[in-house]
Amino acid sequence: MTATLHRLPDLVPPPTELPPRTAALRADVRAFLAEEQMAGRWTPRADVWLSGWDERFSRELGRRGWLGMTIPKEYGGHGASALDRYVVTEELLAAGAPVAAHWIADRQIGPTLLRFGTEEQRQRFLPGIARGEVYFGIGMSEPDAGSDLAAVRTRADRVDGGWELTGTKVWTSGAHHAHAFFALARSAPRDERHRHAGLSQFIVLLDAPGVQIRPIPLLTGAHHFNEVVFDRVFVPDDMVLGEIGAGWKQVTSELAFERSGPERFLSTFPLLVALVGELAGSAGAEREIGGLVARLWTLRRMSLAVAGSLESGEAPELAAAVVKELGTRYENEVIDVARLLVTTPPDPGAEAGFARLLADAVLHAPGFTLRGGTNEVLRGIVARGLGLR
Ligand SMILES: Cc1cc2nc3c(=O)[nH]c(=O)nc-3n(C[C@H](O)[C@H](O)[C@H](O)COP(=O)(O)OP(=O)(O)OC[C@H]3O[C@@H](n4cnc5c(N)ncnc54)[C@H](O)[C@@H]3O)c2cc1C
Repeated sequence: MTATLHRLPDLVPPPTELPPRTAALRADVRAFLAEEQMAGRWTPRADVWLSGWDERFSRELGRRGWLGMTIPKEYGGHGASALDRYVVTEELLAAGAPVAAHWIADRQIGPTLLRFGTEEQRQRFLPGIARGEVYFGIGMSEPDAGSDLAAVRTRADRVDGGWELTGTKVWTSGAHHAHAFFALARSAPRDERHRHAGLSQFIVLLDAPGVQIRPIPLLTGAHHFNEVVFDRVFVPDDMVLGEIGAGWKQVTSELAFERSGPERFLSTFPLLVALVGELAGSAGAEREIGGLVARLWTLRRMSLAVAGSLESGEAPELAAAVVKELGTRYENEVIDVARLLVTTPPDPGAEAGFARLLADAVLHAPGFTLRGGTNEVLRGIVARGLGLR
């Protein structure tokens, strides 16, 4: 027990304060978002980072220097800090702006290319990511490899000048729009004693010969997910990401970027704002709304602490798992409270407003605690980190 108590501080790194200079940046982003909304260019939605695909909007953010912010200037980025990026992303999410097109590229592909990519790969992809013109997906999950990612069966066979990929990826968000993704594949036969060995990552262009992208419709009929089938897809040596055989280490470091950002507790923030609007003037909801706001503030402090820790070069895997586990449950509770306090039913056909936000949130909620690693798996990571298993 004493050993466990010693490890508790790992759950949340030391607090991080936003530098005062970020106040001006925040004001600029808010002014821009207000202007866009006034012009009717988009309507606030829930879960926009997964479903709000709007390439014009992404290019506009790129033009203003709000994408690829942490990418060095020599690769077309802006050499800013992760905390500047944090301010921009939280404002975009809070406004329910359509950020899906660039989200994955900006959040994890850019940093991963900087860490593991070759000079040629960085020159090729980073400037387009920073301009909001090059979009990526994530090619990790397979039909029998989700939580147990080491079970991937997609094969990478050595051929002249590169590798040939054969297999199937699934639940690939946005693959039908994206230019490329990082595919995790088995480049050496599976060894039951070393399941994480023999995996590699490849940059696969999604219009390459042999790549087939099949839609998996959501219950709503919307096309978001895909199954991506590789039939002997040739990937040249210069599109291997990092080292052959080091895929597991690379993928887990990518997940640290994926798990602790504000998108893990702000997917339903536009609904919370609409809920407060619906309740205006009516008494009796202070306890529930106050509780939601207090938790939101706590989650934000935790998420910022992880951002600060990432900024100083650490890999706070445990703390990131805690933020995602608590944050995604919180997102669901915003929906529960909205349904408890307001009788307006969800309306997926409404143009905007509370009923539409509620409908979108309800329909997307099942994915909150699954995507990027399920809550059960995250609890396992935390337990292991605390020495409990
Ligand atoms: C909205 C959304 C978007 C996604 N986008 C992408 C994407 O772009 N690219 C991509 O590669 N993947 C994507 N995924 C897939 C996602 O990463 C997987 O769904 C997730 O990792 C879980 O895998 P699975 O669906 O195979 O479920 P399984 O791993 O089969 O799990 C089923 C259930 O068993 C539980 N379980 C499994 N193992 C354990 C364990 N050891 N201990 C306790 N419980 C356990 C899980 O918690 C879960 O409840 C997306 C998923 C969603 C919902």
